This record gives sequence, structure tokens and C-alpha cells, in this order.
Amino acid sequence: MTVVFPQLALLARTATRLHPRPGSPTVHDSSVGGTLLWPADEPWPYCDEPHNSHTAPVVLSPDDVRLHRRIRAASAERLRLDPKSAQWTPEEQETLERINAGRPWFDSPIPLLPVAQLYARDSPFLCPPDADLLQVLWCPFDHAEHAASRTAIFWRSSATVTDVLDAPPEPPIVNSTTTSRSPACSPRSLSPNSPTSGIWRTRSGTSWAT
Ligand SMILES: [Zn+2]
Repeated sequence: MTVVFPQLALLARTATRLHPRPGSPTVHDSSVGGTLLWPADEPWPYCDEPHNSHTAPVVLSPDDVRLHRRIRAASAERLRLDPKSAQWTPEEQETLERINAGRPWFDSPIPLLPVAQLYARDSPFLCPPDADLLQVLWCPFDHAEHAASRTAIFWRSSATVTDVLDAPPEPPIVNSTTTSRSPACSPRSLSPNSPTSGIWRTRSGTSWAT
């Protein structure tokens, strides 16, 4: 790249490319969209900024998103086994129509969603002193003041978290557009041997610049 665009050489940075795979990561694993090692006595972060409903014409509950993904996975498996089978069963079709109708808008402070947590043992990055865990959360909506999603980053020493929050709060609704592209509500595991680059990339090709 720098041969073609030598002026970019000064901007070079070492980054980490992740390869999340569908899985059931625990709080003790690095993950994308998985549960976080969160201290039980620490308040969960909320977003209290006004949200832009115009960029989220259809909103879903997190359970809607999970159910939608399970139905799509079941359909894909059914078609893999029998390409002549119907894409949706009548029950699936009915459920998808209900989900796609969306949920009522809700604009009060909402809990942030986990995006990723990375243990230093799994990915080479510079940590603050005594930290070995990076946690990233975001708000699933655009905001009235700025279009970008609001993110929050936390560094921790995992050894100090002995009493873990069992049931983190979830937003009552999420943006169906951004959430369908994101790992939220769909935990993915990370290999300890992730190669390095500059983009977080999922199996389906969705990516987030680091
Ligand atoms: Zn927000």
C-alpha cells in the first residue's frame, strides 16, 4: 500500500484483526457481543442522550433479534439438507412478520450493549498498568446531536473482579438496521491466535474500524 501511496507511511499503526466465530463465550473469554466480566457492584453504563428515531424506522427488542437469527439459521440448515424445501415454515413466516412489524419507540436512558471484550492474553495490545482486560460497549442508536453511535471503553484487571454481574441490563429496543449488522445479541468467540491487521471482521464480512 505504501509503495503506491507513500504519504500513508507516516500514518501506519499496529492494530489487531479479530476473527469472531459463533459460540458461547463466558465472561472469562474474549468475545464479540458476549457477556462481560463486569463487577456486580459497578453501575452499568447507560446512554442518556436524545436519540434520532428517524435513523431507526424499525426497532426490535433484543429477544426479537435473537429469535430472528435462530429462524434464519434453521431455514439455512433446512435448505442445506433439502434445497427444495420451503424457505420458511408457516410458523416461521408468522413469527417473522410479527418481528418485522417492530416495537414502539422508547427514548429514555438505555443500557449500552457489549460490543467486545478482549483479554490481553488473546490479543497483543498496550494496556494501562495493572490492566489485562479491555471492554467496549456502545449505544445501539444514532443521536440527535451527532450521527455516530456512542461508545464507552473500560480497562480492568480481571483478577480484581470476583463478584460478577449475573444479568446485565439490556435496552428495551435496538436499531434493527445497525443491530442486524452488528454482533450485538449474537455472541461470538475469539481465537487466541487472531492474526493482526486494522479491522474487526466477522465471518459474514461486517467490519468495524478499530
Ligand atoms: Zn444513545
